[in-house]
Amino acid sequence: MSLRFDQMLNFATFDERDPHMIVSERLQYQDIENLKQQGTCGRGFDNGEIYYECLDCSPIRQELKNTNKVAENGQIYLVLCEDCFLMKHKNHRFVKSESGSSDFKCQCGQSCFMDKQFFCSYHQGYDKLKDIFENEQKQNEKLWNGVEQFFLDFFHLLFENMCELHLKKSQKKIKQEQLGIKTERINLIVELIFKKINEIIELNPPSIHFIPTILLKQLKKPIQLELIQEKEKDSTDDKWIRKINKGKKINNQLNILDYIFLLYEFINNQNDKLINDTFRALMKVNESFRQRFCESFIRNFRYSLREQNASIENYIANEKYLPACSFLIVEYICFNDIFNHLVDSLGVVIFEPINFLIEYIQKKQRSIAELDYVQYILLNIAFEMFRFVNQLKTLLQRFPNELISKLHLLSFTLFKSNSFEPTNEEPHQYIPLFVFTLLQYRQLEKHVLYCYINICEGLLLINDEQLTNKILPILIQNFKQTVNKARQFLDQKTQKQSAFCTASITLISHLPLLVALSERKIFSKEVISNFFKKNFEFENEQTKQEFFDSLHIIARSFQTFTQDIDLYSLILLYPEYLQNQQEKNFFEALRKSYQSFLFSNNYRVYDFLNLTYSIVLLEDKQDYKKNRKHILNQYLQEYLSQARQLNQGSQINPVKSQSINHISFTFYQQIADSMPFFNVFANSHQLYFPELTATENNEAKILVQKNIEEFIITNINSQKNSKMYIKDVLQVCSQQIYETDIVKKYIYGICQKNQSQDESQEIILLDEYKQKFYTRHLLRQEFFEIIETLKSVKDRFQDSKEEYTFLGSDFNLKNLFPYQRDLYKKMFLNECYVDQLVKLNCIQNMKIVQIQSVIYQIYIIIKLIKSKDEFELFSEEEQTKIQKIIEILKRDKLLQFYSSANSKLNAREKLVLYDLIEMNNQIYKYLQEISVN
Ligand SMILES: [Zn+2]
Ligand SMILES: [Zn+2]
Ligand SMILES: [Zn+2]
Repeated sequence: MSLRFDQMLNFATFDERDPHMIVSERLQYQDIENLKQQGTCGRGFDNGEIYYECLDCSPIRQELKNTNKVAENGQIYLVLCEDCFLMKHKNHRFVKSESGSSDFKCQCGQSCFMDKQFFCSYHQGYDKLKDIFENEQKQNEKLWNGVEQFFLDFFHLLFENMCELHLKKSQKKIKQEQLGIKTERINLIVELIFKKINEIIELNPPSIHFIPTILLKQLKKPIQLELIQEKEKDSTDDKWIRKINKGKKINNQLNILDYIFLLYEFINNQNDKLINDTFRALMKVNESFRQRFCESFIRNFRYSLREQNASIENYIANEKYLPACSFLIVEYICFNDIFNHLVDSLGVVIFEPINFLIEYIQKKQRSIAELDYVQYILLNIAFEMFRFVNQLKTLLQRFPNELISKLHLLSFTLFKSNSFEPTNEEPHQYIPLFVFTLLQYRQLEKHVLYCYINICEGLLLINDEQLTNKILPILIQNFKQTVNKARQFLDQKTQKQSAFCTASITLISHLPLLVALSERKIFSKEVISNFFKKNFEFENEQTKQEFFDSLHIIARSFQTFTQDIDLYSLILLYPEYLQNQQEKNFFEALRKSYQSFLFSNNYRVYDFLNLTYSIVLLEDKQDYKKNRKHILNQYLQEYLSQARQLNQGSQINPVKSQSINHISFTFYQQIADSMPFFNVFANSHQLYFPELTATENNEAKILVQKNIEEFIITNINSQKNSKMYIKDVLQVCSQQIYETDIVKKYIYGICQKNQSQDESQEIILLDEYKQKFYTRHLLRQEFFEIIETLKSVKDRFQDSKEEYTFLGSDFNLKNLFPYQRDLYKKMFLNECYVDQLVKLNCIQNMKIVQIQSVIYQIYIIIKLIKSKDEFELFSEEEQTKIQKIIEILKRDKLLQFYSSANSKLNAREKLVLYDLIEMNNQIYKYLQEISVN
């Protein structure tokens, strides 16, 4: 066949002037000398070889800068080999690296990745090559027309075969064996075509400008395939539907590229790679090809998925794969010229990758695979356009409703799908399946969250009041609708009595961004209240309560928050019950990744949820006793039920007992941990809160400084190594804080001032801070880790009079952000709740460890009361409440309990429960004081 193929090309390009020349001789480019200094470098790097990244010549870096973002760690935007770099980039900022196993290639000469001015003198890009080819084409028109016609005919033949096969396959009129043979034949044609294309480019390098024009041509002959645009019901969306018919038609809209994607299902892996290599080469050369390629892909990719039996670590899954060239879209879609072309040519179809993701997630089966490629590629394509402020601006201006509603729909779909419902299986059967699914979704979760962040920050950067006033109501409206939808969904679950917990909470967790965007003031009870008054027009008090109930219910369905199924505690405790060491290790690893998704500042799930729930608790005007899902109410109910069980002599489930401690821990985190505030608004504080840029000092500025200083001090003092440099401090701090720039800004104020403030300078805290330890800034860590750290701090600073507990050295209401202070008062300046706690504290027969969480809370309350002399922080009404609470605490039983609390601990407990012992002592000391007065 290959021979015949060559003969046909020969025939197609026959020229009577030179009847004996074969086609390769005709195509051969004569003036090779002239081609020097054209094109790109493309040099690869062996292991250990040096390459450079120039930080000044990359347009993407420039865009990122405009968007107020720093490049992600490890992300490289412009790779250059040593020769190319040294020639032209004098005085540019750069990173020099040693090549590992990556497949980077030098990008010198590629105009979309770097500024043309700085191409080295050997690689001058493809522009000149284009002129050369156009000349050549003029001189030899007949030859090149022949080549073009030849390829068009073969593509037509190929696509006809593919349509035919598709029809038979979809009507089940073909046997498996026949299907195999026909598919093979089709792939043979594909291979011949693309190999020939590459051969021609090799013989005649300037023709690399010619091939793209062929691929963008239409077929002049009728074919059985068409693509029809349909309006979707009840939406402004257009959808492109592929139809493969019995009758043939001429299509004037479809080009060769379109057909390739629309019929990609038959392409085998080998040809997939071949096509990808060819496209990759053409993309570099031709701007219009790049644009049309991306356009065609986005319109048609849903038909390009190929079914394959994939083997993933002993696990066979029948998966669908996207063409290899979809990675090219990931690479190119971030460029402005391509984005502009897509918006103009596709309109609202530009959101097709998001639409597809939503459908894909709805259908997805749980599987034990490390990575889901379809999801990974699509999310990279779908979200790239939200990254840069200019592109976002265009989208917000042209498709605000579509953009925002799709994002919310995606959040809602994840909320439902990235979730868990208990089954009758054993934990070792469902835990891995659940955790793997969650891990497959974590990048998507991160990107969805980024979208909300980028929209809100984008609006601030665009700084167009009219646009913001248009977008904010759409955001709020979608927020409300999604909350109501999620509530209905959860109500259905309750009706069916099926418990549900989710690992996806972006549908509500972006609330703090909305508050900040609307109010532009550091959060307090008042600011939050204004936000709701201004933006949420509730019909009456009851609809408002309904809405807040929904927010409680949704937030509490998140897995670290839920009480009904405490998967979090289960995964934490389960490995302890395993005998087999290998299994134990496996589960331990699962637990670690799970934990990292929930708590690390890489994903910021913890931060956004913490701040969101703080807002909900603050603005919810209902008495906690009336809301079954209110965290205080649930805590008390759960506790009483455990106490009852104990009294009846039954055992308490360890998972339950663990989870009650977690609820209690959540109170601490809401109130004391300031890191969520920093991480939610990472590197955009000044954008959101103009107070922070004021020239005169104000409370907001002082609070930011104070909190960051405490945070740095704590991190430095948590290290056992005495010698630290700035890079070590940043490294330690980066475990808790998303953006370390703010650490750099404040660190020198709390350090001894030596000569210079450069990197080689050892960091030494001022004497007054050397023994301080504000644990409240480390609360995202695991409970046990915190206690370990506290213990080691105490051991090291034995002579210290500081109190090393969860609330840490000189815990001071004044240093909390206003919303934290308000929340603290709202939860604990509540006689009724305190009364309940004191009663619980005094129940007979309870072991100390079982009331651990009550003790923590009593401790918090005492800390609050001790601040009562800071008069400016409390209103008169609040002072009266404090007096009443003091009276409640004066009960003899309570004093009695704490006089002997620590002596009731057994030896092992005494060793482990450092923090509890310390708190018992503190509480006892305080109760003694007030009993005397
Ligand atoms: Zn440069
Ligand atoms: Zn190079
Ligand atoms: Zn170069």
